[in-house]
Amino acid sequence: MILHKAKGTRIEGKKSMSKALPLHEYLNPPFVFIPLLQQATPLKRIVEIGDKVAIGQVVALREGFGAMPIHASVSGTVTAIKKVWHASGRMVEAIEIQNDNQNRMDESIRVQTDISLLSRNDLIAKMQQAGLSGLGGAGFPTYIKYQTKCPIDVVIINAVECEPYITCDFMLINAYPEKLLKGLSYLMRAADAKKGVIAFKTYNTDIKKNLEPLLVNYPGIELYEVKDIYPAGWEKYIVQKITKKTYAGLPAEAGAIVDNSATAIVFADVVAENIPLISRVITISGEGIKNPQNFFVPLGTPVKELIQLAGGYVESLNPMKAWYIAGGPMTGRAILIDELVVNDTLGSVIVKPMPDEKHHPACLGCGKCADACPVYLTPTEIQRALESKDSQAIKELNAQKCMQCGLCSYVCPSHIEISDYVAKAKELLRKGA
Ligand code: SF4
Ligand code: SF4
Repeated sequence: MILHKAKGTRIEGKKSMSKALPLHEYLNPPFVFIPLLQQATPLKRIVEIGDKVAIGQVVALREGFGAMPIHASVSGTVTAIKKVWHASGRMVEAIEIQNDNQNRMDESIRVQTDISLLSRNDLIAKMQQAGLSGLGGAGFPTYIKYQTKCPIDVVIINAVECEPYITCDFMLINAYPEKLLKGLSYLMRAADAKKGVIAFKTYNTDIKKNLEPLLVNYPGIELYEVKDIYPAGWEKYIVQKITKKTYAGLPAEAGAIVDNSATAIVFADVVAENIPLISRVITISGEGIKNPQNFFVPLGTPVKELIQLAGGYVESLNPMKAWYIAGGPMTGRAILIDELVVNDTLGSVIVKPMPDEKHHPACLGCGKCADACPVYLTPTEIQRALESKDSQAIKELNAQKCMQCGLCSYVCPSHIEISDYVAKAKELLRKGA
């Protein structure tokens, strides 16, 4: 089932909060912590305590499906292997590197002079060597998508950035519009695609203003504006709108590959200078932060330092009672403390006052959750089926089609986390219960 054109909900964006200040580069934190986990895959560490490392040096390997190297994001010394909080909501082992502030580069980083000679396979190999993964939140190894056997007509850059508060893609595109176009043109070559499309929300007029004058140098690339509704950034929706085709499994079935704008920008550096994935932009925002803004940081930077750089917490917020969300408020993960490090999938941390614990309201039976659902599910019926462990009913209610957009919880007047029940029901079906 595909998002119907009439569906989707306008939600309060709260994006102006973090757009007010310029992109803040914080390139030399005293320590970084490279988590030994990528998606759900544990990584094999290949450095020892005491080793000296350079920026871009391989420090760990992802093995098996999605195999690729993981690189040091600063130069310095490996000082410990310790557990840190990860965007997945759990503690994972990480390589602690003490920054020597020398910014020594690994010898693999150098300017590429013969870009035009690179074949499709060369470009895909570069993605793998760079440890390039989806920076939109999924963290999927990029090269796997480009190894498809399906003919690809179009590479789509998803710059829709649907979730409230988050502006990291917006800020990055406006800082590096030419790099985005370069990166997309390389991605098109890696896919053997004639067309490239950059999809963004119609109100982001700055993106249009910065990209449009440059398009003349990038034949085959065009802009595509989507309406200000949630979840217009849903991959299936964008692919359907642009290709007029539907698909069951992967966008490649519809002749499309979809990448995040930050991934394309990193790929421009990968191709031009062999700089691997070692940094990203993260939004630090929410009502609990004094000066919400975006930071350009090496991977492994502690979020706590960014919160301090953003002026710290507002006086009225008790940090012990704050609500930290890793990712966006619609689909992100609530965490209890700010002891988190930046990894490839962490595009934002939102800090808000904790919701009132005494507030345990009942369902009003208003049906707003079902009205809002972009894929026409009835969340309360799924909740009831889950509570009675009726997997047949869960299946008939199509819980497996939930895209976990969080909209049903967002519109609920009783603030019931109804999407959690649907997610649990979906998980029950997946486990075959
Ligand atoms: S989280 Fe699932 S059930 Fe809720 S609105 Fe989104 S798709 Fe529908
Ligand atoms: S929106 Fe909330 S209160 Fe209304 S039916 Fe759904 S769960 Fe119940």
